[in-house]
Amino acid sequence: MLLLHDPRCADYGSSMRPEQPARVTRSVAHLREAHPDWTWRIPAESAASDAALLLAHTPEHLKRLAQARDFDADTPYFDGIGTHARRAVAAAIEAATHALDKKSPVFSLMRPPGHHATATQAMGFCYLNQIAIAALYAQKQLGAARVAVWDFDAHHGNGTEAILHAHASSPHLFFASVHQHPGYPGTGTHDLGLRTRNWPVPPHTPRPDHMAALRESLDAVVAFAPDLILVSAGFDAYARDPITSMTLEREDFATLGRWLADARTQRGIPAAAVLEGGYHEDLPLLIDAFLSAWNNPA
Ligand SMILES: [Zn+2]
Repeated sequence: MLLLHDPRCADYGSSMRPEQPARVTRSVAHLREAHPDWTWRIPAESAASDAALLLAHTPEHLKRLAQARDFDADTPYFDGIGTHARRAVAAAIEAATHALDKKSPVFSLMRPPGHHATATQAMGFCYLNQIAIAALYAQKQLGAARVAVWDFDAHHGNGTEAILHAHASSPHLFFASVHQHPGYPGTGTHDLGLRTRNWPVPPHTPRPDHMAALRESLDAVVAFAPDLILVSAGFDAYARDPITSMTLEREDFATLGRWLADARTQRGIPAAAVLEGGYHEDLPLLIDAFLSAWNNPA
């Protein structure tokens, strides 16, 4: 297991907000202790060039990230936020590169998250959409003809959907999201065609039903026969997450990891995952369950 992490991603923000530095610092401490054999690497920032960012975002959006005004109530301006978001992009690109080269599990343990950011707008704790950028970059620069994004964060990946769907003339991109609805940001109620798929799940849905939706969504991803699966790995569908109303338990995240291992061993499809949400103090244990099962399936 390769973990891509830059400690500077904890250098901004506030413990008063759900999306706070301790999410990653505590996860790093736990994973280093629990898995001394896993490899850690600081991603090279150079991968997140303007050209890469412009695959998914407008030039105006890149300029806006440098302007010291809040984006919305959830998404404040922080000093250097453009640089922090760029590092998360670099990590996602490096994760995609590693997955394609080595066909082995890789996780980007960075913040800020990205899947709500649209081409033109920071929102929902997200500033740049690293998973969408990595998907487009993998196609254009890494030789991956077919790329799928699987988003199991409890919130709809509206930004990823919008960015990838804008490239819908390409039959070689696939997006699947399973998320709480009603819930933030309120999108993702229906499919936008055959390759932009949504599984809205009502609050308090029983675990087996939520897991059935997740299984169906990954089956759709695998049926698309991608060369690469990029995973928006959010852990806020956890039963005790403070900002959602879902019911998944730690072993369910292990199941998701085992399914990715199956996609690799049975179908030969590599995957790279990036951290999105997850706001309960158990986040390190949830990430551990997911990665351990993915890395070393039972
Ligand atoms: Zn979320």
